[in-house]
Parts: sequence; C-alpha cells; structure tokens
Amino acid sequence: MLENYAKYLFFIQGKLNGFFEKQKPYIKCKKGCAKCCKNAVFPYSDIEVKYLMVGYSQLEKSVQDKIMQNIQNTLTLKKEFEGKEFLYDCPFLIDDACSVYNHRGIICRSFGLITNGADGRMKVPFCCFEGYNFSDVVDFDTKIVSMEKFKKLNIKQEPLAFNAGYHFLTDDDFAKGFGFEFGDKKPLIDWFIV
Ligand code: SF4
Ligand code: SF4
Repeated sequence: MLENYAKYLFFIQGKLNGFFEKQKPYIKCKKGCAKCCKNAVFPYSDIEVKYLMVGYSQLEKSVQDKIMQNIQNTLTLKKEFEGKEFLYDCPFLIDDACSVYNHRGIICRSFGLITNGADGRMKVPFCCFEGYNFSDVVDFDTKIVSMEKFKKLNIKQEPLAFNAGYHFLTDDDFAKGFGFEFGDKKPLIDWFIV
C-alpha cells in the first residue's frame, strides 16, 4: 500500500511542480518562510500519516525527541480548545524547516497555489494577504484575482487556479487507480491522540 501511495505522490508532485512553474511570476516562497506550517489545521489521511512516520523513523533521535515534545505540547494546548476550532503549528516543523520534507503530506505540497475549492470558488493562499504569493494580483477585498492589477503588472502569464485542493488530490478514485486507500482523514495532531 505505502509503495503504491509513494508512486501516486511522485505522480502528483510532478503535476504540482508544473503548476508552480507556470505561476512562477506570482510565487514568493523562500527558504525559511514557514508561515504555511503554522497556525493551521493540516488535514491528513491515514496513509499520509503512515508515510510521514516513515520519514520520522529516519530522523536522528534528538530531532525525533523534539517532534514528540512538540506533539505533547500541542495536545496539551488542544485540550483548552475542546469543541472549538484548534489551529496549531505543525509539530514536524523544526527551526522553521520541515523535518520530514520528502515524506510530507499532500496538503503541504500544494501550499501557496490558487486552487479550485470544493464549492467551485477560487481559493487564494492565505499568505497572499501577508504580502506573499499572488499578493500583487489579488484584490484583498473580494479575495479574487483582479484583472486591473494583472494588466498593470504587465506579466504575460495570467494567474490561474488549479485543481490542487486537498479534497481533489485525495479523491478515493485516484487512490483506487494507484492501488491504495487514503483511509480516514482528520487534523494531523488528532492522529496522535491516544
Ligand atoms: S506558500 Fe506562502 S507561507 Fe508558504 S512558504 Fe510560500 S510564501 Fe511562505
Ligand atoms: S509536515 Fe512539514 S511541510 Fe507539512 S506542515 Fe508540517 S512542517 Fe510543514
């Protein structure tokens, strides 16, 4: 199962790389910017967590200990939010870098793109409103791409939304085609509740 999931990851990573390449003029991601790994929910399916933990098992003991400590701290904090939405920093983020980069989940791979939401509406990345991806071309009031701003930029490539949302990329039919199942989906931190 994990082997087939890895093949699927390779396939979608190729597609996502192509999307990022196409949108290069609007992408402001830089090494050290870890905003998308903080203050969020991070949906993860069963198979994604299993794959993430393969990455974890390959880390040095000292890094593993830091991650486990982060998980414990986050779970303690979560108790105070019982019944309310709980946003947290990803426990696998160590010194503002992903400690399990090659094994990171699907949501982590599409951070920063404009995606087509499940409701059919365009979803711009949150960091756009903090001056990062697509900030030059999105209207902050309507939260959609502004034709006026696009024309002023004088960039050939128009900003595009892709089918790269989490629910699309984790569709069960894709999994069937590659011979695996995503399984249950829940916030990353909830997989560590014992
Ligand atoms: S997607 Fe946004 S928040 Fe994430 S690294 Fe890129 S610029 Fe930073
Ligand atoms: S797994 Fe890595 S890329 Fe994904 S949210 Fe956590 S630190 Fe960020």
